Amino acid sequence: MSNAILVINAGSSSLKFSVFRDHGGGDPVVTINGQISGIGTQPVFDAKDAQRRPLAEKSWGAGEASDRTALLSYLLSWIEERLEGATLIAAGHRVVHGGVRHAAPVLLTSALLDELDGLVPLAPLHQPHNLAAIRALAEAHPELPQVTCFDTAFHRNQPWQAQTFAIPRELTEEGVRRYGFHGLSYEYIARRLPEIAPELGDSRVVVAHLGSGASMCAIHGGRSVDSTMGFTALDGLPMGTRCGTIDPGVLIYLMRKGMDASAIEKMLYNKSGLLGVSGISNDMRALLESSDPHAQEAVELFCFRIAKETGALAASMGGVDAVVFTAGIGERSAPVRARVGDKLAWMGVEIDAAANEANAAKISTPGSRLPVYVIPTDEERMIALHTRKVLTGR
Ligand code: ADP
Repeated sequence: MSNAILVINAGSSSLKFSVFRDHGGGDPVVTINGQISGIGTQPVFDAKDAQRRPLAEKSWGAGEASDRTALLSYLLSWIEERLEGATLIAAGHRVVHGGVRHAAPVLLTSALLDELDGLVPLAPLHQPHNLAAIRALAEAHPELPQVTCFDTAFHRNQPWQAQTFAIPRELTEEGVRRYGFHGLSYEYIARRLPEIAPELGDSRVVVAHLGSGASMCAIHGGRSVDSTMGFTALDGLPMGTRCGTIDPGVLIYLMRKGMDASAIEKMLYNKSGLLGVSGISNDMRALLESSDPHAQEAVELFCFRIAKETGALAASMGGVDAVVFTAGIGERSAPVRARVGDKLAWMGVEIDAAANEANAAKISTPGSRLPVYVIPTDEERMIALHTRKVLTGR
């Protein structure tokens, strides 16, 4: 008999889910994907099978909009009707912050939930929603084991230099340190790359996760040694609406001008990045199609910073043997990859135009001194793998 694993990625107003089937050998296989969107306003549930064929759709009135326990109870009943004899062994959650203690996923306990509550101030925009879904599921189905998979865990064993800000020690001890995020994506890439390019062995790889949130990671021998995101998911690359690395003096200037913390937070998280520079859109596709010079500048700044960070991360590893692009923009935007490739010509990158246009697995020419890959990420599968490991030991 096979097992099923529910994977949950809960945000502020939406909850994405996948159901994986585990037959014992090999990776678990996804059978259903779906989401509940509009939580807090007008929730809508929809689900598709692995071939993207619609399976169900349902909406609720505003009265039930915020009742996450009722929504998760509905979701679980709906899934249980479609298990076809499999046993649902657990739910695995993406949790943005695991703090300094957690370098691996863990089985949920009430003590752990209290500990994770304590990390809310470090990730106020994500952590409360992740935990709300865990609490609601525990209430709806107390017997179902839950596993928390942290976006920070993969970075936890970085050398101390990569994790430390040059600020008074007491603050570092209080937790003001560089955590790094997108860890589940990087861990998946670290696992997948040797299957695609076995010759790379224990190599030094720079991975660019370029989605609406974007970051980069230096992976040496399968382990994270440095990353562009730091204390929060605001650091590093410019993103769809987030600023990326900024001189802290700018924040002092803005505060002196009279902006308070929440106004600054809103500006840096929601009005900056590609949207802020272009004044047009946070969507890379719209910017690439636009002839507006500000749109072109936003794309150029994005590519410039990716190339610059590639150099910095290579320095963290004492060299680089491969570059990998992943996530929405990284997997699908040939123009962005081509521009970054041009800027990395000095490192030996030579992009094969046809392979790049085709989003091929390897987009560098055979003669390129530094090979460049495109690997679709799969954070959900990573969560399913972790959840199976925690539950069954394999
Ligand atoms: P998230 O970080 O929300 O998980 P994704 O990894 O799905 O997001 O990436 C979303 C982003 O990918 C979108 O904002 C869009 O700009 C970009 N994107 C998707 N497809 C393309 C494409 N064909 N060309 C350029 N950018 C794309």
